[in-house]
Amino acid sequence: MTSLPRTVGAALAAARAQGLDRLDAQLLLGHRLQRDRAWLIAHDDAALDAAAARAFDDDCRRRAAGEPLAYLVGEREFHGLRLRVTPDVLVPRPDTETLVDWALALLRDSAAAAPQVLDLGTGSGAIALAVAHHHRASQVAATDLSPAALAVAQANAQRLGLAPAWLQGAWWRAVPADARFDLVLSNPPYIAAGDPHLPALRHEPLLALSPGGDGLGALREIVAGAPAHLAPGGWLLLEHGWDQADAVAALLRSAGFEAIETRRDLADRPRCTGGHWRGG
Ligand code: GLN
Repeated sequence: MTSLPRTVGAALAAARAQGLDRLDAQLLLGHRLQRDRAWLIAHDDAALDAAAARAFDDDCRRRAAGEPLAYLVGEREFHGLRLRVTPDVLVPRPDTETLVDWALALLRDSAAAAPQVLDLGTGSGAIALAVAHHHRASQVAATDLSPAALAVAQANAQRLGLAPAWLQGAWWRAVPADARFDLVLSNPPYIAAGDPHLPALRHEPLLALSPGGDGLGALREIVAGAPAHLAPGGWLLLEHGWDQADAVAALLRSAGFEAIETRRDLADRPRCTGGHWRGG
């Protein structure tokens, strides 16, 4: 074994030599030392004690083996909010900001004084908390099957001074039978069972990534239950895989939704499809 690096600069160089991305190495070392990137860059010669060097070396090995950076540093930014994340929840993706932006635009145009919003399968709480934070008048509820995920979401809400209603259970089974919403959102698991993309995501909860089969099972269940829980004039917006837009639009159409539309993510892939529920 080579000796441990004794300075900030040497530690960062060793991480790069292990194949780590420069930014990842800076964020991991900054997390260990409780310093920001500007400090690290200005303090190349700062001494590193052996414990910090060893902990950083361990972080680098885990990162090189595919653990998401967000789990190693324990947080991730989403739509302007700093969220705690643990391996109990999916790491929030920038792709999902497309869904939140669409929701916020609908809420701005909504006639309801206090629109009722539901996030199905909230994980870290990312979608529910971003909506609650950016549209203060909305009344947000969020579900998850996993009690551990709900605990993460609840802790995030507390830190952000937000208080959505948390509901535990599988999709609509978590929701009171008579509850009606103006806007229902979800980023459900949608990766097909055999998808070659899945092994690379092995550190994240499979429950949040894949419903098995063709990947559409959770989306089907959400669409099927939505008419009973949407207020007249409400909207259902769903995130899905880049190749699932047509399938999701077809599900919405056959359930009676109108004004069906697909939105693209930052990489210009079809990422969210939604529809309007006329009701009545
Ligand atoms: N967008 C994620 C990915 O493909 C998957 C999230 C999900 O299944 N909802 O990495």
